[in-house]
This record gives sequence, C-alpha cells and structure tokens, in this order.
Amino acid sequence: MNRLITVFLSSIFICSTLVAGASDSVASVADIIPRVTSFTIKDKVYELPEAVTFKVKRGNLSSVFQEYMYASSLHITPVVKGTAAITFAISSDMTGVSTEGYIMDITPKGITITAKTETGAFYAVQSLLQLTHDGEVRRLQCAEVKDTPRFSYRGMHFDVSRHFRSVDFLKKQIDAMAQLKMNNMHLHLTDGAGWRMPVDAYPRLTQFAAWRPQRTWQDWRNAGTFYCESDFPGASGGFYSKDELRELVDYASRRHIRVIPEIEMPGHSEEVLAAYPELSCSGQPYKNSDFCPGKEATFAFLEKVIDEVIDVFPSEYIHIGGDEASKDAWKTCPDCQRRMKEEGIVDVDGLQSYLIKRMEKYINSHGRQIIGWDEILQGGVAPGATVMSWRGTEGGKKAIASGHDVIMTPGTYCYLDYSQDAPFREPVSIGGYTPLKKVYGYEPVEADMESDKVSHLLGVQANLWSEYVTEDSHAEHMYYPRAYAIAEIGWSTPEKDYEDFHRRSLAFNDLMQQRGYAPFDLKSEYGERHESLVPVTHKGVGAAVSYALPYSEKYPGVGLSTLTDGKRGGWNNNDGRWQGTLTDVDCTVDLGQEKEINYVGAAYMHSEGAWIHLPEEVVFSTSVNGVDFTPVATVSCDIDPMYPKIITKEYGAPVDGVRARYVRMQATKNPRPGSWLFTDEFIIN
Ligand SMILES: [Zn+2]
Repeated sequence: MNRLITVFLSSIFICSTLVAGASDSVASVADIIPRVTSFTIKDKVYELPEAVTFKVKRGNLSSVFQEYMYASSLHITPVVKGTAAITFAISSDMTGVSTEGYIMDITPKGITITAKTETGAFYAVQSLLQLTHDGEVRRLQCAEVKDTPRFSYRGMHFDVSRHFRSVDFLKKQIDAMAQLKMNNMHLHLTDGAGWRMPVDAYPRLTQFAAWRPQRTWQDWRNAGTFYCESDFPGASGGFYSKDELRELVDYASRRHIRVIPEIEMPGHSEEVLAAYPELSCSGQPYKNSDFCPGKEATFAFLEKVIDEVIDVFPSEYIHIGGDEASKDAWKTCPDCQRRMKEEGIVDVDGLQSYLIKRMEKYINSHGRQIIGWDEILQGGVAPGATVMSWRGTEGGKKAIASGHDVIMTPGTYCYLDYSQDAPFREPVSIGGYTPLKKVYGYEPVEADMESDKVSHLLGVQANLWSEYVTEDSHAEHMYYPRAYAIAEIGWSTPEKDYEDFHRRSLAFNDLMQQRGYAPFDLKSEYGERHESLVPVTHKGVGAAVSYALPYSEKYPGVGLSTLTDGKRGGWNNNDGRWQGTLTDVDCTVDLGQEKEINYVGAAYMHSEGAWIHLPEEVVFSTSVNGVDFTPVATVSCDIDPMYPKIITKEYGAPVDGVRARYVRMQATKNPRPGSWLFTDEFIIN
C-alpha cells in the first residue's frame, strides 16, 4: 500500500469532517476496515445516484446475492434502463486476487467490480456499504482498488456455553463479521457451563445440562455450580433447536461465513457428566470434568453426538476441543487402566491421544476434518487435523513445522475476555489488560517459521470466553473494536500504522453504533495505568534488594532489581514489571549509606479473577546496621478481598525524617490458599 497516499488522505478526512456535514463528505477507500490491500487515488469524485443499480457484464450473480444487495442499506437493484451505478464482472481467469478478492474501479461515471467468484463481489459490496456509511455519504473519491485477503481463515469465536445467546444476537454478529470480511464463526456449543444443542438420543443434555439456577458466573460459582431442570423457577440458560441452528448456518452462508460447531472432549464436560454420570470415571455427577476414555459408552455417546452435529452443520471442520483435560481420575479408574493396558498406552496423555485419534477417525470417515486446541498435539494426531494455537504460539509453530494446518489465536493478543481499558472503568472481566493497540500489534507469521510451511498458517481468530460476560451489549463491548484489529490482521498486508488504524476504528465505531451495536467507546479510552507511563524517582532506585522470602520464579518481574528499577507496573500483572509471590513478602533495600527517610511505600495489585489479592497488612521498618530493625509504618488493607475489578493500592506512609541505611518491607498475604501477592516498586523517599 502506498503510505504517502494514506497520510495525504488522513488529512483530507480530518478536514472534511471538521468543516462539512456527512452529506458533503467525500468517502475514501483509505478509510475502510480492514485496510484494502492496495489502491491508487484518482482526483475526481463519483456521486452515487439516488437509486443504486447494477448490471452484470460477465458471469452470473446468484439470486441469493441479488436479494442480499437489495436488502442492504444501499438497496441495490438490477438496472432497468440507462447506465448502472455498479457493473460486475465475474470471471475465474482474472489474476492478482484470490477467490475472495476483488478489483474495484471507482470512476466519475460509475463503479466496476471484477472478481473471480461471487465471494469477491460480496466483499466489494461490503467495502461500498462501509465506504458510504450505509448510504449516508454519496460522494466517493475515485480510486483503483485491488483487495484480496492475506489469510483464508478469519474467525470469531462465540462462547454460548458460559452464557447462552439468542439466534438474533448471533445473526447480528454475523452481519458485523461480513462487514469485517471475516469468514468463520466458531460456535463453542458445549462446556461445563451448559450444553446448547439438542441430541435426540440424549435428551437430558437440553432438559438439564443446559440450565442453571443462577444467571451470573459469580453467583453460580458461589452456589456450587449445580445444574437444574429446564422448568426450575428462574432457570437460566437455553439451547438452540436444530431448525434454529440450520437457519443460522443458512444466514451465515448467505454472507459467505462458515459456522464451525465445537463439541468439547474429553475435558470441559462437567455438564454432560452431571446429566449422564455413567460416562465419567467415578460414575457419579459433579465428581469429574473429563469423559472416561476407558468406557465404550463414552464413544457411543460422542459418536451419536457427532452424527447429529454433522447432520446440522455442513462445515468441513468439526471442532472437538481437546483443551485442559485434568486426566486425574484416569490414573486410578479401572476402566481407563484396562484400556491403557489393552492399547499399550503408557500414560494419561496417551489416553487423551487415544480418544482424540479415535474420534478423528470417526469424523474423517464421515468426510469431515477435525480442529482442536493445541493440546491435541500431545501424543500425536493424524496429519489432517487442524490446530488452534491458544497457549501462545509455540504449539501452533510446532504444528506448522510438522505439516498441520494452524489457526493462530494466542491468548495474549486474541483473547478478548481481558479488559481493553483501565479495569476500574471497565465491566468486571477475567483480568488482564489487552487494549486495541496490543491486539493490532499481533503478527502471526514469526521469523523462525519455515517459509515453505507458512502456507499451513490458515489465519487468525478472535476469542471471547464469556464467563463474566452476562449481557449481549457487554459481549459487543468486548468484541468491538478489538475484532476490527483481528479482521485487519487476517485480511490486510502486514504493515502496521496504529494511528491510521485508530482513526479508521473511531469512524467505524460510529457506524457500528448507528447500526445498533454497543462497541467500547474508543474516544474516551483511559489507557495504561498512568503511574506506569513515566519512571518514578526515589532514593531507592538502583539499590540492592535482599529477599528473606523469595519471589515466585513464575512471576519474577526482571528479577532482583524489579522493586528498585524505577518502573511501576501496568494493568497487566504479567507485564514484566510486577513481581509475584505465593508467600508473604519480606525484603530489604540497602541504600548503600545512611539517608534521611520521609516516606516508604509500595503498590500492590488486586485481581480477584486471577487470584491476586491485596496484602492484609504491610509493615515497613528501618535499620542502620541491617540487623536491628525498628517498625516505622504499618498500613492495613481497606478493600474487600472479593472486590470484582482489577485495582492497585498504594501501601504508603510518611515517616518523620528517620535516618537509616536499610529499609524492610513485610507484607502479609491474604490467607486464601493459592492467593498471590503482586508488587512493582519499593518506594523510599
Ligand atoms: Zn475412566
């Protein structure tokens, strides 16, 4: 893409929006999300007529596509007489674009769209809908556009297990996906929080395993994560009928989107095992989260479910989960042990692999392929399996190296359940901090990937796990605008210009709001923890720190200098500036010589979802010789340990001109087992 053109057009855009109303604005292809592959701006303007008509010069457009164009905000109709506003040419012998790409010429006389397939033509129309702000802006800057996706897989994931969402909600998101040129909807239909698809042979899945007495995740967890009958008063949950699912698949397919169903196995299956405990190792409900791979009944169940899933979903891919199985019960279950002996399997990882391979074979025998989370690599899978890499990118890279297709969805960049802004201003989330800029910064192709294997990298996906996302509007808030970034990573060339992307995101957010979506208000973004943006100066900077209780090797920050490096942490406890421990904190700073001290303090983090709690008390003491310490300040916690949002608290106190060389900090952790302490800087002034 021509960067100069972009910069030039940015200034036009800003000027035109400042001085003129929408009707006088000139829409430019430089403003589209995802950014078009390449374009050349021409100096004339095309005025879109009142009635937007089309004709087909070459090839055919299906009635489905014609209906779609008519129903769109531009109400595009076939030309009856005179010239058409849009001329289509569909021809497989064009070069330079993929089957999803298109070439579009906007001239003073009209628009020509050339594409290999109707999918390419569909995406050209998506560009026009966005360009004109649903027909509000009629003056189009003339341009020659060539637009073709970088990756063939551009996905969004919907966790309808943790919170059930209506078909209407999903259709609305399909419309947004189409606009963003995304082509795969991953439906996470089953998980411990609820089963969402009827299976004729196992009616308890939707009579019982789809319902819970409490609506919110916190209430349900606190009440013990029990399910209930569908007619229990106030039961929360639900499921889709097969007709509804078929209708969804059809709706998506008219928008060139494939719906990929996911059935979790062998882990994340608490809801199934509560309804059908005979499929677990213990045979009792609420005991196990994994299917028992030792029992044939498990395979009878899974095969029956897959039969019905295949009948409803035409997708070539069936996602079989495969993540986070605990495998604990397998170690002592007689059925599992017998299976291992019979099959010559040496450990429980091998038993997971046995289940995955057996189900893969079954699914392949029905002409479909499996996708699984990266754990399916443990113990090996068949070459046809596609891997979704979520635990970082290493699993995906390994899979690519061994010839598997891979979809990248690393948690650090692609998990939209983390807060996107200062967590104290955001709805309750699972923790973390993943702002738009961070998502946008993700580059799926890494330097150490072998170039001849990169074609196995199919694309990227945005995942929204919905434990804490109860309301539909909250889900939209989490998806948008961050899904714009994933869409652009999937579609556009890899060059990055965050300022330009941010500008386009603001404009697209307005359009989304106009269409009734509830995106995060990017205009009023607070951003990273302000204290972390500038270095902090104090008397302890650069001083040596000794630890009576060691910090955790898992969260060392930058090691021994973390607490005196003058750098305070951000909203993410994993940003290398925070230091974590599962014990109390007991450390001492050596200032090198006696100094007058007027203030001691340190910030701690609270993130309940991540089991990080504030210390109950922090005691500061000083010493001249490093042996005899005198307490100088004690600060107690005044925050409820169950407070649901991420905050930081400064445990600080003035000290009245004490002279000392050594300053000690002792923090008493919250007594909950497994609770962490995180601190970033020991401030001495
Ligand atoms: Zn078992």
